[in-house]
Amino acid sequence: MSKRVAVVGSREYPDLGLVRTFVRRLAKRDPAATVVSGNARGVDRAAENAARAAGLEVRSLPADWDKHGPRRAGFIRNGQIVEACDAVAAFWDGNSGGTADTVRKAEAAGKPVSVWGPDGERVRGGTKGMRLHKLDSRHVRGCGKCGLHHTRRSTVFGQGNPDARLVFVGEAPGHDEDESGLAFVGRAGKRLTKLIEGMGLSRDDVFICNILKCRPPGNRNPDPSEAAACSPYLHKQLGIIAPEVLVALGACAAKLLLRTEERIGALRGRFHALRRCSGPPIPLMPTYHPAYLLRNPADADKVEGDMRLVAERLGL
Ligand code: URA
Ligand code: SF4
Repeated sequence: MSKRVAVVGSREYPDLGLVRTFVRRLAKRDPAATVVSGNARGVDRAAENAARAAGLEVRSLPADWDKHGPRRAGFIRNGQIVEACDAVAAFWDGNSGGTADTVRKAEAAGKPVSVWGPDGERVRGGTKGMRLHKLDSRHVRGCGKCGLHHTRRSTVFGQGNPDARLVFVGEAPGHDEDESGLAFVGRAGKRLTKLIEGMGLSRDDVFICNILKCRPPGNRNPDPSEAAACSPYLHKQLGIIAPEVLVALGACAAKLLLRTEERIGALRGRFHALRRCSGPPIPLMPTYHPAYLLRNPADADKVEGDMRLVAERLGL
């Protein structure tokens, strides 16, 4: 049977050309596909017009505004759209709660969802990815909660799989991270990649971030006020991702997360519980920082042992 693809998004989606391209490609792949849509302006109208132009069938499900009132009508219509399709393509303006609602309903119904963000980039991980995106674009990118915003080039939110079972937390961005906006991309990052691959995973399977989202000048240690200002972002990230296990990379991350003065050499090698204001504690494995490993390669087997314990815990 040919696919019924719902194309959804708000009136504010900035790149309707992308919507049209998506529909044209769909028509090429599956000329008998149906486009399910919500009969509204913006993404809906662009998708419907492009579908008709490409000879695709269109099933338009207008909201019953008069009967239910605008808000409720939209929610009912989103449910009907999801019910009437096999997969959802969502063009999300970075804000729209209606689009997020459709994605949530599609996930609940077990239907595949693809999400495109406001810059035309793919947002992985459905609603989790959308929540992370919002935290980054609305809060972290413009953050001035501590003095580091004066000297940073970019904020470094962290990256990877929004659905990750395993999250690595480092200390703070360094020079390469500040330049690129990505966590752990320098030499230490390459060493981290090796550790991840040693567990049979790739960087794409896990999520990688830091306690601080901005680089301290000259890579000095974060001061306690900076860590206090920034760590709510990390806790929000962890609340969204809900990983099963955390790895704290290095003394600084381990001590800040576990609120202890114990040395990393004494902390590593066993799981600790990261207690949080909300949600169950997360098992946390402290280990040496990959930058330390570059200077002290003899300690590699200790870290590899720690990663084996993590892999076992995850049933890998
Ligand atoms: N060291 C860290 O702690 N984090 C990075 O992102 C890079 C190096
Ligand atoms: Fe904001 Fe964190 Fe950057 Fe400080 S380090 S400015 S708290 S994002």
